[in-house]
Amino acid sequence: MAFPDSPRTSATGHGRPSRSRSRRRRPAPRLLGAALAAARQGLHVFPLWPHSKTPCLHGKRHCTGTVPCADGHLGWEQRATVDPDLIRYWWTASPASNVGIACGPSNLYVLDLDPAHGEPAPPQWAGARHGRDVLARLAAEAGHHYPGDTYTVRTPSPSEHLYFRVAADSQLRNTAARAGWRIDSRGRGGFIVAAGSRRRDGLYRVVRRPPIAPLPGWLATCFTPLQPEPRPNPVELGATGVSGTAESGAPVSGIRRQRYLDTVAAAVAHAAPRTAHDTLVRTAYALGRLVAGGEFTDEEARAALHVAAQQRRIPAYEAAEAISSGFDRGGLRPRRLSDRAA
Ligand SMILES: [Zn+2]
Repeated sequence: MAFPDSPRTSATGHGRPSRSRSRRRRPAPRLLGAALAAARQGLHVFPLWPHSKTPCLHGKRHCTGTVPCADGHLGWEQRATVDPDLIRYWWTASPASNVGIACGPSNLYVLDLDPAHGEPAPPQWAGARHGRDVLARLAAEAGHHYPGDTYTVRTPSPSEHLYFRVAADSQLRNTAARAGWRIDSRGRGGFIVAAGSRRRDGLYRVVRRPPIAPLPGWLATCFTPLQPEPRPNPVELGATGVSGTAESGAPVSGIRRQRYLDTVAAAVAHAAPRTAHDTLVRTAYALGRLVAGGEFTDEEARAALHVAAQQRRIPAYEAAEAISSGFDRGGLRPRRLSDRAA
């Protein structure tokens, strides 16, 4: 059954419910209440499948090009909203939907602190038993207090989500262990599951309720890429067109470039379920090096990996994180297909 993500009767083209319908309401059921509460904090919400953290708005593959996508497909990040009428419409249609918060449009950056799950910390973080311990050390090293005085949610895992406000033009994206062991983050291009949502293994609960604090500058630097993401030279790629002639090394044909993309995408799409994530991470690293070397554009490489990840049924948020992480690391070691050494 498809999630009815826009009112069928709407002729306005905005996928909004009519006022008369949304005003006639009883006390908000729990998840609708959670969505409305998040929106009151200025957080842009969208529905997730019940008991899950998978967006339930239609994906690009199933887009029919009708309202609200008449001018092009809109994903969860574009459709996430603070509009109480639309929120009521969505959660009336599917009251058990969990609540996703799109971090980018919400000007939100969320630290995801994980427990050790029985694993010993790597030598650099010896003695740490939780992402909280690592964050405490980062704070001490920077000469600041632990940044815990902000809105905080505990997940069923159980991890802790520390919410921070960032500027509207913040470019901070999702990271995995960039700041330190057991610390991930969600920013532009990422989403989190809001308090009040439920998974089979438990509830997302608010554990601290102060207003969302601004992201401290020292903390922001922990999530900033070590060096600016290398951009391929558009002149070089444009000028060489399909022949893909590199200034250094032998010319690499467009066919070979395409074959390379097809091969790595197939490796992800057909990986065994248990190794799919690792394959994606490795492939993203390899492709990230080639993007940094100017062999592929960031967009075409990401798109190939996302399509493959979708075929392998890797959740979109997980794929986005793995790909960004691989690109970050690969970006530090640029190479071209014509280079011999891997
Ligand atoms: Zn669409």
